[in-house]
Amino acid sequence: MKTVCIIGGGPAGMMAAISTKLNNPSFQVHLIERNKMLGQKLRLTGGGRCNVTANVTNEEVIASVVKNGRFLYSTLSNYNPQSIIEFFNQNGCPLKMEDHFRMFPVTDNAVDIIAALNRKINELKIDLHLNTYVTNLDFVSKQLITSDKSYTFDYLVLATGGITLPQSGSDGNMHEHLKAFDQPITELKPAEVPLVSNERFIQEKILQGLSFKDVKMTVYNENGKAIRTLTHDLLITHFGLSGPAALRLSFDIIELLEKQKDVLVSIDFIPRVNLPMEVKSMDYKDILQNENVPKRLIDYIKEDVLTSYEILSKLKNFTMKIHDTRGFKRAFVTNGGIHLKYVDPKTMKSKIYPFLSFAGELLDINAYTGGFNITSALSTGYTAGLYIDNE
Ligand SMILES: Cc1cc2nc3c(=O)[nH]c(=O)nc-3n(C[C@H](O)[C@H](O)[C@H](O)COP(=O)(O)OP(=O)(O)OC[C@H]3O[C@@H](n4cnc5c(N)ncnc54)[C@H](O)[C@@H]3O)c2cc1C
Repeated sequence: MKTVCIIGGGPAGMMAAISTKLNNPSFQVHLIERNKMLGQKLRLTGGGRCNVTANVTNEEVIASVVKNGRFLYSTLSNYNPQSIIEFFNQNGCPLKMEDHFRMFPVTDNAVDIIAALNRKINELKIDLHLNTYVTNLDFVSKQLITSDKSYTFDYLVLATGGITLPQSGSDGNMHEHLKAFDQPITELKPAEVPLVSNERFIQEKILQGLSFKDVKMTVYNENGKAIRTLTHDLLITHFGLSGPAALRLSFDIIELLEKQKDVLVSIDFIPRVNLPMEVKSMDYKDILQNENVPKRLIDYIKEDVLTSYEILSKLKNFTMKIHDTRGFKRAFVTNGGIHLKYVDPKTMKSKIYPFLSFAGELLDINAYTGGFNITSALSTGYTAGLYIDNE
């Protein structure tokens, strides 16, 4: 009987264990997790509700995976959002769809997502080892050493996550081991991270707490050229900007901040309003009302401009500078991980060690928020289990 060890009890590792056992029923499967429970980070996702996937096509998933989306092409043909929706619907955790096609458990409780995965793990009689920290790997004798005991394996799946929110267990220790084994790792940076600004309205908390639906936000490079524009929700906080629009643009902003001290962004708070066509002064109040523009924002803008047209223009092109991000501690995902040049996209196997596979955020893949990171974790986990035995 062959033995498979899977390190990491997040969505990628749980699905890798389930897939390994479903596709190779005779194998002994060990799932090893350092925490006392599975899915510690999963518990916190989607504000405790777990945005587990998005009800979109494979192509739309790939378009939302900002780094290395094409790598997922094959794995999504094995396991995609429809497979995820079916899995949870069939395993006692039905899902519902919200705006932007985001899927959540109908109970609005991330714990139910973990419970569904946990039930399947028990049903398939996967050997679960909680409170078990893998401290070392030996690829010659195919052994892993844990805080508890050593395990010998025929195949090994690493699903130990990125390095954000280290208190959830994903502290990057496996990245260090892999470097010692010459499995290349790309540079690690925060991704999907809130943005920090020194603008007066941020420092004096004038607009703190205002949230907006579907504003249009643009990032400019140092030559003033717009490099990305998107429309999504935005939140003004005590430190700067958060919400999906800010998180998504953080990828470009981090790249720019490596070369310049701050980055210019513009926000169109009234993207549906067409200027100058709709600027008859009588329309002004209607426009502000129809577009739900908060009074606090209008009062702030009025400090500098006077006419109705100027106010509307400023609402359409509100500029500010970003000089930093909230870093790994507040990032949702890690940009960087196992170098994909050395991983087979069809099987998730290492091209260096044929007995080794990878899944989830440990790989150099990161997506926008909206359910795409968990989708990537579940899909790559499924594929790792599916192809575990093909050498
Ligand atoms: C606050 C927050 C909210 C988020 N919300 C969403 C969302 O709603 N939708 C979405 O798609 N994505 C969301 N994400 C991102 C998503 O949670 C991750 O991309 C996803 O959990 C990655 O899954 P994973 O299994 O690869 O890694 P993880 O979930 O990090 O799991 C890795 C596991 O490996 C274990 N481990 C690590 N090293 C060892 C070791 N040496 N020995 C034993 N065990 C080890 C860890 O304890 C951990 O449990 C969110 C992230 C954060 C921080």
